[in-house]
Amino acid sequence: MAQPITEEKVFKDPVHKYIYVQDQTIWDLINTSEFQRLRRIRQLGTSYLTFHGAEHSRFSHSLGVYEITRKIISQFERNDYPGWPREERLLALCAALLHDVGHGPFSHSLEEVFDTHHEQWTVRILLEDTEVNAVLRRVSDDFPEKVAAVISKTYPNPIVVSLISSQMDADRMDYLLRDAYFTGVNYGNFDLERILRVLRPVQGKIVVKESGMHAIEHYLMSRYQMYWQIYFHPVTRSSEIILRQIFRRAKELYESGYAFQMMPSSIARLLDQTIDVKAYLKLDEAYAQAAFIQWEDESDELLSELCRRFLNRRLYKYITVSDPADTLIEEAHRQFVQIGLNPDYHMEIDFPFDQPYDVYRPDSKKGGKEEKTPILLLEDEERLIEISAKSDIVRSITGLHQGEYHLYYPEEPLLAAADRLSPEVRELFKL
Ligand code: CA
Repeated sequence: MAQPITEEKVFKDPVHKYIYVQDQTIWDLINTSEFQRLRRIRQLGTSYLTFHGAEHSRFSHSLGVYEITRKIISQFERNDYPGWPREERLLALCAALLHDVGHGPFSHSLEEVFDTHHEQWTVRILLEDTEVNAVLRRVSDDFPEKVAAVISKTYPNPIVVSLISSQMDADRMDYLLRDAYFTGVNYGNFDLERILRVLRPVQGKIVVKESGMHAIEHYLMSRYQMYWQIYFHPVTRSSEIILRQIFRRAKELYESGYAFQMMPSSIARLLDQTIDVKAYLKLDEAYAQAAFIQWEDESDELLSELCRRFLNRRLYKYITVSDPADTLIEEAHRQFVQIGLNPDYHMEIDFPFDQPYDVYRPDSKKGGKEEKTPILLLEDEERLIEISAKSDIVRSITGLHQGEYHLYYPEEPLLAAADRLSPEVRELFKL
């Protein structure tokens, strides 16, 4: 059974001012070890190396997503909109709070190298033998499965799913505001209170009252600015490349039987793919960074150099290239080998538009499977219209962007060996 809390709890929050907890289940979930672990994982991965304020954690973001969801539901219930199923309140709040509980340290880099997925870990943490599972099971026996279904977007009631994952969901609204606040940029600000007032539950979807269109335009503009200024930042990309290379090198060495001086057990189990929930939950950023500090002293020069670069922010520089298959790049590749560099590591071409963010494309599909829910405006009583059909601003920022490639490389060894490179290669790297 769901239980009200004996006394309302309040968290002070820089983005929402206060976060209110009114259910015993939510309070108990926050106090589980699995949720507390999120304090030790940064929301923005390596962005703190570009924007030093970006130290905020997935814990604060998760509380924020919960609070926005709570406010949306409270608005629906105060106005008694028939489109909102009241019995789903606690389920939606739990899914909002727990949607990121399976994130690991530096998730996106880790997932790419080790082929693991935080969404799957979230589901396992909800369903296997954890403190979170025990709290959810106290509500009802099938409650953990229901929360997992909302997060996996398979729950039969679409309106509950769209609170947590859609173009206007509580997740995006919180991370934009929070990331803007902690990076110190102003672009990410939009009028959250106004947006919360114009949302309506209609026909199994969360839609926007037509008069709220300008608030949504502002929100999408903020999103656009944040992607270009923060999420696609080329210096952050450089730090992610080095991080991925550390994991990649560790994996290569491990598979070749290299004797590490220090190999933390959860990383070893990630490497030999025997990791379970208990071992996974030990992984946080401190754990990964303690390994990097030790690996600085490994005898493998490449691994130790990469760790030193990451820890001391000696990042790769980049040049912009329009065609990664250019013969001059092939030539540079050859010359890198001649001066003792390893092009598998020291020359990495990056196309910065494959991030798990997008501005807004009403009809695009992510990875070919996940359909993006369009933002719909509610005209008069029940007619719905997709926002880009109405808004010139939205149309102009939803076009396709021609991206450039960036070629990342370590500058110091190139400078040191510049006289051994051809004039064309020197010019390419501006030496
Ligand atoms: Ca999130």
